[in-house]
Amino acid sequence: MAQAHKLDCEAAESDCRFIIQSENEEEAIELARNHMHEEHGKEFSDEELQTEYLQVV
Ligand SMILES: [Zn+2]
Repeated sequence: MAQAHKLDCEAAESDCRFIIQSENEEEAIELARNHMHEEHGKEFSDEELQTEYLQVV
């Protein structure tokens, strides 16, 4: 069974219900980075997103 990479934005931004889930880690990171930038005005590096926020499910 393929693993999926998941970002639950609520863990980072308590009022946000945005969830990303993708089997492609690069895609998950890119979507997460775009979301953080566009919705929250925050910049995270790929590494920060990968280590701090992405979960493997
Ligand atoms: Zn969010």
